[in-house]
Amino acid sequence: MTSTVDSGTFDSVDPASGTRVGTFPVHTAADVQSTVDRARAAAQWWDGLGFAGRATRLRTWQATLAKRSAELAELIHREGGKPVDDAIIELASAVEHLHWAPANAARVLGRRKVRPGALVANLAASVEYQPYGVVGVIGPWNYPVFTPMGSIVYALAAGNAVVFKPSELTPAVGRWLVDSFAAIVPEQPVLQLVTGAGETGAALCRSGVDKIAFTGSTATAKRIMAACAETLTPVLLECGGKDALIVAADADVDAAATAALWGGMANAGQTCIGIERVYAVDAVYDDFVAALTAKARALRPGTDYGPATMPAQLDVIRRHVDDALARGGRAVVGGVDSVRPPYAFPTVLVDVPEDSVVVTEETFGPTLTVTRVADTDDAVRKANATGFGLGAAVFAKSGGEEIARRIRSGMASVNSVLSYAGVGALPFGGVGDSGFGRIHGDDGLREFARSKAITRQRFPAPIDVTRFDRRPWAIKGLGLLLRSRYGRAPR
Ligand code: NAD
Repeated sequence: MTSTVDSGTFDSVDPASGTRVGTFPVHTAADVQSTVDRARAAAQWWDGLGFAGRATRLRTWQATLAKRSAELAELIHREGGKPVDDAIIELASAVEHLHWAPANAARVLGRRKVRPGALVANLAASVEYQPYGVVGVIGPWNYPVFTPMGSIVYALAAGNAVVFKPSELTPAVGRWLVDSFAAIVPEQPVLQLVTGAGETGAALCRSGVDKIAFTGSTATAKRIMAACAETLTPVLLECGGKDALIVAADADVDAAATAALWGGMANAGQTCIGIERVYAVDAVYDDFVAALTAKARALRPGTDYGPATMPAQLDVIRRHVDDALARGGRAVVGGVDSVRPPYAFPTVLVDVPEDSVVVTEETFGPTLTVTRVADTDDAVRKANATGFGLGAAVFAKSGGEEIARRIRSGMASVNSVLSYAGVGALPFGGVGDSGFGRIHGDDGLREFARSKAITRQRFPAPIDVTRFDRRPWAIKGLGLLLRSRYGRAPR
C-alpha cells in the first residue's frame, strides 16, 4: 500500500511492475460509521425480499461474475500478481459458492417445525434463522474474490447487508465486486465498500456492526477479537495455516508429488490452505523427494506463479529458509538465494528439525519441507504438532479417509489438494490458531444468522406444573411421567 496521508488516499500497485492500479480513499472512523448507518435500512429492505427475492438477485450476480470472469481475472492478475489462469480458477470456486448459497438458504435457514418432546407434547415448536442485520467483512489479499466472497455471499443469502473492507493491497478488486452487485441491486446500499488499512478495519469492528467476518493472519485476528470484545460483537475468524500433506506407503507417489507442488507453490505459496509441510513414510520417502525435486526444478516464477503480492513477506520466507539451513536442513531445490524480489523461487527443504520456524510458523511462500516418518501414525502425530489446524491432505490408496479424520484440522482432502474449498456443501474453517467459525455449506449460512426459537401452546397441558395454583397431584404426575419415560438406563 502506498499511502498519501495528506490527501487521505492510497494507491494499489501491480506487484510485478510497481505500476499504479488505482487510487482509493483512506476511510476514517466517521466514514465507516456513516457507511454502517446507511446499511441499516438496506439490511431491512434486503431481508424483506425473502429467500426467493434475494436468490434471484444473487443468481443475476452469479451470472455477471461468470460472464465477465475474463475481465475480473485480468484485474486480479494486475493488482495481486497471480497468473490470469489462476485467477480464473479462483473465480470458478467463488461462483460455485455464489450459486450454492442462495439455492440452499431457504432450506437451511427457513422456518421449520421441530418435535417438542413428551413432557410438553401440548406445544408446537419451530425454529428459524434470522439475519444479524449488518455484517462487516474484512478480507485479505491472497484470494481477493474467493476469500471475502465466502463471507459476503453467505451473509447476503442469509439476509444481511454487508460492509466490506478489502485488503489495502487489493481494493480495486473489492471495488469491482461491490460495483457489479450495485448494478443488480440499485435500490439500496446492501453491499458497500470501505477502503484503507488496519485502522479502517479497526473502525469497522467498533462501528456497531452486528457481526465481523474476518479473514487474514492470526495476529490480526487477535486484535479484531479484542476490539469486538468491547461491544460483544460476534466474530468469525478465518486465519492462517501450516497445512500438512501425508504420503502413505501405498500412495501414488508421482500424483502426490504433483499435488504437493501445486498445493505448496501455486499462487507463489500465498494460500491459507496451501501445503507447507509434507510427511512421507520411509518406504516412499526417497521416491517422493526425487519426484518432487524434478517437478519443482521445472517451475518458472513469473509464468507458473506470480511475484509475492506483499513485498514484506519475502523477508519472512528468507528468514524461514535461512533458519532451516542454519539448523541442519538441506535445500534440494532453491536455498539461500531463493528470494529474488519481487519473486520467491521454489524451495524444497529436507532434514529440517521439527521445531524450526519453517515447520512451526506460516511461511506463505513457495517452500515445502519434506520429512521422513516411520509410518502414518508418526505422520499424523507430527502433522498435529502445530498450533494451526486449517486444512490437510493425505495420499493413500487405502485408509486415506481414516488418516484424514485423525488430523486436527477443519478440512482435509484425500488424493487431491485443496479440493474441499470448491464444494458448496462443505463447511470451511479452522481450529486453534487457524480460527473458528465456518464459511460455506449449511454451517456457513448459519454463521450469518441467529436462531430464533418459538413455542406455541396448542392446548392446555394435562399436567400443568408452571402455575402457582397447580393441582396438588400435578408434581406427582410429572414425577411419574419422568420415571416412566426417562427412568430406564440402557442395559
Ligand atoms: P492481515 O491480517 O495482515 O490483513 C487482513 C485484513 O485485516 C486486511 O484487510 C487488513 O487491512 C485488516 N486489518 C489489519 N489490521 C487490522 C486491525 N487492527 N483491525 C481490523 N482490521 C485489520 O492478513 P493478510 O496479509 O491480508 O492475509 C494473509 C493471511 O490471511 C495469511 O495468514 C493467510 O493464511 C490468511 N488467510 C486465511 C484464509 C482462511 O480462509 N482461513 C484465507 C485467506 C487468507
